[in-house]
Amino acid sequence: ATPTALLVGTGRGAQMGILIKGPEVLESTRKVDTVVLDKTGTVTTGRMTLVDVVTEPGTDRAELLRLAGALEDASEHPIAQAIAKGATQETGALPAPEDFANIEGQGVQGVVDGHGVLVGRESLLAEWSQHLSDDLARAKARAESEGKTVVAAGWDGRARGILVVADTVKPTSAQAVAELKELGLTPVLLTGDNEAVARQIAAEVGIDEVIAEVMPRDKSDVVRRLQDQGRVVAMVGDGVNDAPALAQADLGLAMGTGTDVAIEASDITLVRGDLRSAVDAIRLSRKTLSTIK
Ligand code: ADP
Ligand code: MG
Repeated sequence: ATPTALLVGTGRGAQMGILIKGPEVLESTRKVDTVVLDKTGTVTTGRMTLVDVVTEPGTDRAELLRLAGALEDASEHPIAQAIAKGATQETGALPAPEDFANIEGQGVQGVVDGHGVLVGRESLLAEWSQHLSDDLARAKARAESEGKTVVAAGWDGRARGILVVADTVKPTSAQAVAELKELGLTPVLLTGDNEAVARQIAAEVGIDEVIAEVMPRDKSDVVRRLQDQGRVVAMVGDGVNDAPALAQADLGLAMGTGTDVAIEASDITLVRGDLRSAVDAIRLSRKTLSTIK
């Protein structure tokens, strides 16, 4: 390949807000047939808001918000920020937790106002024998069928309620997915979130293949498994937990709105944080390489 054409390609990319690490990256883009898309922050805005709180009988809504909010205030996860913000708006300043620990891909734990508090996936609470009542489980299923994300909160050995947060699909994601398909690429949605939420978001943007409930450390294994099937994989992500998968992929594309760790692990940075830029990047590389041929 002529280096000049590749350099022109990377220069054109920069003008379009597509930062390409080196000219050779354009070559690896050519054979891509599968595009794995992280859900939160990539297909969706990642800006979630707290939309509902359901408590067990006997549990005070304000106390649930205060205890869960205090823990989440110490976490940077988009779900956590939504809960902390909603809790602050409703109950005022939150106390600082003690013994705070982030349990990657699962939730948070710590001590607030003398209570040992857990906030996160239902399965995390279940590990501590904090099981949702039938009423809470029903409320959770209903919210999830609407594509919302539900986290559970419990303290002193009992599940106490659920917090419902909703994320929204970026306005350009459906169009980007349609364009990927037109280019003959297969989009795959990859997320740590549960199957119901993932299916709902996938349906909204037109993705058929969904891989859900994947722990952060397992995201790169999912990419490797697709590669073992003979697929050439591009991965688009934004989070710290996406970095190993971005590095494992044949082509890693990071949202410029995402974390530095994801950007460093990637071959291409999409400055605009718009999924259509991923399509533009693939088109650009095809065009650049066809002028070389
Ligand atoms: P994604 O792959 O969609 O970016 P993560 O892997 O970061 O999601 O998280 C997976 C799941 O773990 C979340 O959907 C949520 O249920 C739970 N979780 C992770 N961090 C937190 C937190 N700070 N508070 C509550 N729940 C959390
Ligand atoms: Mg993410």
